[in-house]
Amino acid sequence: MNDQAIANLLTLEAKRQNEGIELIASENYPSKSVREAQGSILTAKYAEGYPQRRYYGGCEYIDKVEELAIERAKRLFSCAYANVQPHSGSQANAAAYHALLRPGDKVLSLVLNDGGHLTHGSPVSFSSATYHFVFYPLNDKGHLDLDIIEKWLDQENPNLFLAGYSAYPYAIDFKGMRERIDRHNAHSPTPCLFMVDMAHIAGIVAAGLCQNPVDYADIVTSTTHKTLRGPRGGLILSNRLDLAKKIDSAVFPYTQGGPLEHVIAGKAITFLEDQSPAFKTYMKQVLENTKACNDELARRGRIVSGTENHLFLLNVLESYGISGKVAQQELESIGITTNKNMIHGDTLKPNETSGLRIGFAAATTRGCTKEEAIQIAGLIDDCLSKSKSKEQLKEEVHHMVSGWKDVMTLEFPMGE
Ligand SMILES: *Cc1c(COP(=O)(O)O)cnc(C)c1O
Repeated sequence: MNDQAIANLLTLEAKRQNEGIELIASENYPSKSVREAQGSILTAKYAEGYPQRRYYGGCEYIDKVEELAIERAKRLFSCAYANVQPHSGSQANAAAYHALLRPGDKVLSLVLNDGGHLTHGSPVSFSSATYHFVFYPLNDKGHLDLDIIEKWLDQENPNLFLAGYSAYPYAIDFKGMRERIDRHNAHSPTPCLFMVDMAHIAGIVAAGLCQNPVDYADIVTSTTHKTLRGPRGGLILSNRLDLAKKIDSAVFPYTQGGPLEHVIAGKAITFLEDQSPAFKTYMKQVLENTKACNDELARRGRIVSGTENHLFLLNVLESYGISGKVAQQELESIGITTNKNMIHGDTLKPNETSGLRIGFAAATTRGCTKEEAIQIAGLIDDCLSKSKSKEQLKEEVHHMVSGWKDVMTLEFPMGE
């Protein structure tokens, strides 16, 4: 690389990633193959439009790349339609709303502090300026509750019900939600559509380890870089072929211009990697590691959410008398990366928070075992309770990651 300044920063970032324990629940490491696709010459090609209907010439091979990505996405999630062009999860959501709603329509979404995403109606996001968001709560225990959801559906008569979250640690009953929406629609003056944003759990869905929202929702959006373990990007799926045209034109030309075909090539590789039996084994290990770490913190008397997916929440205010912001800084100083997060009923502000979100998708990709996940709980607890010196803890982190895979050379088996 000719640019020394950037080259140095790339080297330093790779070193940081290799030398730390990455527990941010939304992060993961893609394969070298995926990164090669992202760094490929496909980035030079304009391909506005869709395969076989482009606005530019020279799309012979680009079309094949995108067709492979679409075909593999449909196979991976057993669905009839896929749009692989969204640049990110937020872009996928913008397009999904546009395909289903008109400006001012009402969307029923989870209370944001309980795990919703910014694009689910936050005042600082486009979503709240364009659509009218109202919010359903969790129950007293911090769980989704179908009776509460149905009550809010009947009370608000929304045009769209939105499920899928960024910090919800439990399984989601998409089938039950569909039943409640259908029951509501049978007597409601406003038909309510069902959208699922599975950005966080897409890998768990792909591995067949939870309900597949595509079976129940009208539209499903996702990222491709979280548990799915692909390049940074977005995805829209549906079984409703009658919506295909609307979704396609909501992505291009409504919300985006030329697709990132180099990233779409990376998505195609990911969708094949994720069809291999090894991916299912990996995802089972992620769930096992997450639970092992949660349970060890609980055994040590700390307040944790419990978990049924790849993440859990640690109440650091109650456990250690510190904010999530401080806990995040303390852990970062010993080489463990996490993020502060609001917890159910949080009394602190979003830039302080009472909680910490902890996930094992990334660490497990590097080879973290269940025993190590338990040791990581010990490292977190010893750091935040200040029962060991930082020097000692840094050394232990260093020792653990020295046995893990290098983020620059990861490769995964391909599916059939
Ligand atoms: C991460 C996430 C997104 C947004 O993804 P970006 O690629 O960062 O735009 C959307 N929805 C949910 C639920 C997420 O967790």
